[in-house]
Amino acid sequence: NHFIEFRDVNKEYRLGKNNSFLAVDQINFSIEMGEFVVILGPSGAGKSTVLNLLGGMDRVTKGTILIDGKDITQYNDKELTNYRARDVGFIFQFYNLIPSLTARENVALVKEVVGGGLDVDEVLESVGLKEHRYQFPTQLSGGEQQRVSIARAICKDPKLLLCDEPTGALDSDTGVIILSLLQDMSKIGGRTVIIVSHNAALAEAADKVIRIKNGKVREVIINENPKPVK
Ligand code: ADP
Ligand code: ADP
Repeated sequence: NHFIEFRDVNKEYRLGKNNSFLAVDQINFSIEMGEFVVILGPSGAGKSTVLNLLGGMDRVTKGTILIDGKDITQYNDKELTNYRARDVGFIFQFYNLIPSLTARENVALVKEVVGGGLDVDEVLESVGLKEHRYQFPTQLSGGEQQRVSIARAICKDPKLLLCDEPTGALDSDTGVIILSLLQDMSKIGGRTVIIVSHNAALAEAADKVIRIKNGKVREVIINENPKPVK
């Protein structure tokens, strides 16, 4: 049994009355617990769509998505909202922090909403933000803002971290630090980390690379010896 399984998943976007676009076309893949996975492909390939389906932010047109043995495509809206809130941590390209809240408050808010989870200050320290926790997002560098968003994602203690172009807005040195942090979330933290990217350089660091193009899986590569990000 796999931790995540996509079975013949299609996602068709309706465009007006008479048109539609097949963004995800009969996709199959599986991901194991604790894996560090990169979904690679050019712009428009369907990567974000796959991630949104995985995170319960969108629904499939056809097919089955099993997470930990449960078919999330059968969830009703309330169950899907709960899944999204409790079981998945999201990390986006543009951080999506609340500008009127400090770093610490941005993280604490999620915990308040979801309940349970990890200690906010310990999580902030683990991403190297202890000294910065009372700063507002505009007072933080891009890399620091992305650390806040990582802290916010992991403080719920989710088994699954979904990252959409997490280094897309960062310079390359800062990007490496963020990727290394995400790799540690998998290697040390035991979390399943899935990164969507068009950056082929990431392939060497991943346990598994899923290459998609035009909504189809082109190749799945398993790395026996993934390299540390650097
Ligand atoms: P990627 O993340 O690989 O760049 P996306 O998953 O964002 O690709 O998009 C895949 C394809 O689906 C693109 O061709 C895009 O134009 C189309 N698409 C994405 N979202 C929508 C939508 N809400 N409505 C219609 N078409 C969409
Ligand atoms: P970078 O070199 O990554 O662009 P900055 O020069 O923007 O970083 O910031 C350097 C440090 O100063 C960062 O650690 C950031 O948290 C802090 N900082 C930046 N702007 C402010 C501000 N307006 N108030 C307080 N601290 C700030």
